Amino acid sequence: MKVLIAGGAGFIGSNFIIYMTQRYPTYEFVNFDALTYAGNLENLSSVHLLANYRFIKGDITDRNLVESVVADGVEAIINFAAESHVDRSITEPDIFVKTNVLGTQVLLDAAKKYNVKKFLQVSTDEVYGTLGETGLFTESTPLAANSPYSSSKAGADLLVRAYHETYGLPVNITRCSNNYGPYQFPEKLIPLMIINAINDKSLPVYGDGLNVRDWLHVEDHCCAIDHVLHKGTDGEVYNVGGNNEKTNIQIVKTILSELGKSDDLIQFVKDRPGHDRRYAIDASKITKELGWTPKYNFESGIKETIQWYLQNQAWWERIINGQYQQYYEKQYAMR
Ligand code: NAD
Repeated sequence: MKVLIAGGAGFIGSNFIIYMTQRYPTYEFVNFDALTYAGNLENLSSVHLLANYRFIKGDITDRNLVESVVADGVEAIINFAAESHVDRSITEPDIFVKTNVLGTQVLLDAAKKYNVKKFLQVSTDEVYGTLGETGLFTESTPLAANSPYSSSKAGADLLVRAYHETYGLPVNITRCSNNYGPYQFPEKLIPLMIINAINDKSLPVYGDGLNVRDWLHVEDHCCAIDHVLHKGTDGEVYNVGGNNEKTNIQIVKTILSELGKSDDLIQFVKDRPGHDRRYAIDASKITKELGWTPKYNFESGIKETIQWYLQNQAWWERIINGQYQQYYEKQYAMR
């Protein structure tokens, strides 16, 4: 099978390529990525010489290029490509609509034109909006996205659904909770806090720190996508989650304690506008229907992840010394 992986140089996409090239040596994997600030080919140094892996630099909104790549025998498309950071979507929503909505439509058109056998959209639980203190998101929870990021992902999800209902395109959508693990860009909560703690910098926590997220190790997410790619029923949505609800402040305190640093480094900052209070996933459908279960336990997974960032300091230093630094200063200096 020839699989096009859009956005394969980002956090989850690169973990997925590493996971899949090992498991399916007879498949061909084409990584199609624009290499935005979040794309990093260094993540793929362990696979870039493999015979079953190829990289093409390209933008998913570039219709001609996407079509020429898909026309070359692609049988499945998995779309990870996105602008993915909520804070950036609040200050620059345009690029979120362009990449996440219009880019997905270009990929769908190419899939339809060249009769691709599976289109798998990697989406997020954020499309469901926010929960109160109880309850879980199921696949039938209405979409009620609250940020420009999540609304652009919800828009893409509806297009994917429409291409199934209208044109019969064989699609699936996965909606996963927050991921953690190696190669996550240092603007996201867990790597940001680990790196600041290592550097004895303050750890900025939004609002009261009591927002709840359901954390899943990225490898468990990759395994879930593998299950859906091979066993998913066309047209179905599958929620993916780890049953690991944690408040942001619990995460930050776990990181500080693991690194032997003081809680005095915590600095509460003005809350993010429209900040969803709680996400929690009911993943029973993918478990019952496709046999997926997560293998990581959060307590050991987070320790392993902290160790990874300690051991791969050169990887994140190259990132934070560059363009990212200017963004970080703009984002947090005024709070
Ligand atoms: P990321 O920001 O680390 O990576 C995104 C990748 O997409 C980068 O390599 C970037 O270069 C590429 N890209 C961006 N715009 C592009 C374009 N126009 N054309 C081609 N490539 C482009 O994101 P991530 O955390 O790896 O997330 C991947 C996907 O999973 C996203 O769709 C996101 O919505 C979804 N998701 C993420 C999480 C999470 O916790 N990180 C959870 C659930 C779902």
